[in-house]
Amino acid sequence: MPLVDALGRPLRSLRVSVTDRCNLRCEYCMPEQEYVWLPRDDLLHFEELSRLVDVFVGLGVDKIRLTGGEPLLRRDLPQLVELLARKPLQDLALTTNAMLLDEFAAPLKRAGLRRLNISLDTLHADRFLQLTRQNDHARVMRGIDAASRLFPGTKLDAVIMRGVNDDELEALLDYGASIGAEVRFIEYMDVGGATRWTSKTVVPRREMIERLAARFGVVTALEEPGSTAPADRHVLPDGRMFGIISSTTEPFCRECDRARITADGVFFTCLYATDGLALREALRRREAPATIAALIEQRWIARRDRAGEERAEMQDRIAYVPLATLREHPHLEMHKRGG
Ligand code: SAM
Repeated sequence: MPLVDALGRPLRSLRVSVTDRCNLRCEYCMPEQEYVWLPRDDLLHFEELSRLVDVFVGLGVDKIRLTGGEPLLRRDLPQLVELLARKPLQDLALTTNAMLLDEFAAPLKRAGLRRLNISLDTLHADRFLQLTRQNDHARVMRGIDAASRLFPGTKLDAVIMRGVNDDELEALLDYGASIGAEVRFIEYMDVGGATRWTSKTVVPRREMIERLAARFGVVTALEEPGSTAPADRHVLPDGRMFGIISSTTEPFCRECDRARITADGVFFTCLYATDGLALREALRRREAPATIAALIEQRWIARRDRAGEERAEMQDRIAYVPLATLREHPHLEMHKRGG
């Protein structure tokens, strides 16, 4: 019997943040100058993470995605991948900004990583610098090039912001096609970290489709019954496929089977959730797996989160967490809980 929450949603997918550090400062995620970092000793060790993943697998999780922060900043990450690759999983993926991929693509492949999602918001070096505060676009492109040859089925994820990069939909699709990667456009979300979010900057899914239809012709939505993937996939007349993750204007909480673990072992049942369940101490005390499973189970059974849908119904929607609150409660940051 799968473990289901109060709204009938199973627990199938786990995002594991391995670090809250990042080597970019994306405008929509980490726009501040200073951040409070997790103390190093608080980070779950690989052995602890492996035990925790076993517990989640026992509860029905069969998809794991490693994220952060920038996961490739976590020292010896391929060793963790190797541990996780031995588990009975349907999917083992990693989300990265590609800054370090040139170096890590091959070791990750050897370690058993199955899939990569690469975040790429712009094809212009100057825009990349403005958006991320790092002058490293060429390095990212090298990383993507190396990885796309080793990982067929790589996805390119682009957060689309009005007036920032919304003139690049077509170019990103062309670039994706040139390296055999499917592109997914992400609506700008008002999550923790996005302290400068405004509804005006969001380009809604509907508008993206209209623009692409005007440029390429009829855009057909793919029917994917049973899919709980966050992206709605579409096909262009020339056969190219792309996805849109419309978490802001057309959220999909009803199908959400995802849970999150922060790098210091806090379990969150929603990207917007404000209260997490700290599991690190139980792991460090070497509590029995059944005891830890019972804690997770209790949380999941009570889960009623549908914050995306609730926020989409709000009239004067503003950034979810004010900066002062984020400073006081850094676990609300996107880069802490893992995007
Ligand atoms: N550093 C890795 C990366 O860049 O993919 C993993 C962590 S990052 C937080 C994961 C994803 O969250 C990225 O694709 C990023 O673009 C997305 N993200 C962060 N803040 C967002 C926001 N406000 N709205 C939409 N997507 C966001």
